[in-house]
Amino acid sequence: MRGGFIVATHTIIYYLYIIFTRTPQVESRTALETTLVLGSIYLILVAIIGGLKQKIDNLLGQEQDERRRLQSIVDQLPVGVLITDAKGNITQGNKKMIEIFGTHTKIKGRIGEIKDPNMYYNNRHVAPSQWPIALAISSGRPVKPKEFVYIHENKRKTFLQISASPIYNSKNKLIAAVSVISDITLQKEHEERKDDFVNMASHELKTPLTSMKLFLQLMLKHAGTNKDIHAQKLLKNIQNQTERLQELVNGLLDVSRLQTGKLTFKFEKMNFTELVEETVEEMKGSTKQQQLILEKKVPAKINGDRFRIYQVITNIINNAIKYSPKDTAIIVKVKKEKGNAVLSIKDQGMGIDKEQQKKIFERLYQVSDPTAKTYPGLGMGLYISSQIIKAHKGNIWVESEKGQGSTFFISFPLSK
Ligand code: ADP
Repeated sequence: MRGGFIVATHTIIYYLYIIFTRTPQVESRTALETTLVLGSIYLILVAIIGGLKQKIDNLLGQEQDERRRLQSIVDQLPVGVLITDAKGNITQGNKKMIEIFGTHTKIKGRIGEIKDPNMYYNNRHVAPSQWPIALAISSGRPVKPKEFVYIHENKRKTFLQISASPIYNSKNKLIAAVSVISDITLQKEHEERKDDFVNMASHELKTPLTSMKLFLQLMLKHAGTNKDIHAQKLLKNIQNQTERLQELVNGLLDVSRLQTGKLTFKFEKMNFTELVEETVEEMKGSTKQQQLILEKKVPAKINGDRFRIYQVITNIINNAIKYSPKDTAIIVKVKKEKGNAVLSIKDQGMGIDKEQQKKIFERLYQVSDPTAKTYPGLGMGLYISSQIIKAHKGNIWVESEKGQGSTFFISFPLSK
């Protein structure tokens, strides 16, 4: 604006100089008036334009300050942040994002056109056009966190948890998308180490337990021959506890086999209803406290691993026994529904909160209720059962309400 005033003033002075030195006296008055009017308009225009420019400069400066402020906040975050415009052009990334993908990151330009990024999901390569941020733009919806593996040029693996969300303006128009990338490599390594330990420990425990069981059988036989009733009773107790210990060790072994993908199945065409009947009969002997009733059955054949399905049924019935009070009924039914064999096991026990119902199928999850009585267990049974059922392309679910009992359902596709 100062420049404008200087130029305007100089121009007016120049005109005045010309008027007084070169024009005849008569016209000089009119020329003087015109110069003064024009000069005033000129000065007013300079003031207005200058003021406007200063305002625009201020706004631009404010926007830059805002950007810098946002960038330094985003840079402080312990997670990677990637922001694109509505077309997928990367507009912003933070320090952690560069740290995660490497300083020579190829993550620039347009998301769908990034070259050769080694991103994997469930061992399958994921093209950049399928990354969560690209999906958030194409679907216009948030993408829930998922676990990916990024393999660097030197073959180093980084485990990532990535989520994304579209950003809309006040007129509900998609204007950008943001992705949050957490490096979970350390957490994964800890998990792996823990799994290795569980695997090793359960293998080491298995051998001495098998020997103990054999020696116990010998001692029981010996006590039987000597008619030593007291020793027999004590040894029976030890045998029961050893069996419980063996169940726990087998559970731990199954969990670690599931983690490493080493749980194998022997599929065969089998009579599902017969297996349920046999299992219920066998378990009636072990539960004196509750009434176990097979109320309904229809013949159903499925393709499955007999031993593993037996393991699932016993686990659910054992839970029904464990989490129900004395003198209640446990009702078992086998039905056919929409091409599936469906087994339901209904108890009148403590029930399960709606919020907890999904979580009980997770690894090592136990419902914690400080007011309730504690029960022995490690929270492995339903996780193993759900994984076994998944391998059979079946389903497991629960219908329950706290304090109102639970009904567990398992279903398997009927064999042709
Ligand atoms: P565990 O019984 O060894 O703790 P499970 O994986 O078999 O492990 O079960 C997970 C959790 O689900 C249990 O800790 C219990 O809180 C809940 N649960 C399972 N079955 C029932 C049931 N029939 N009634 C009430 N709660 C149950």
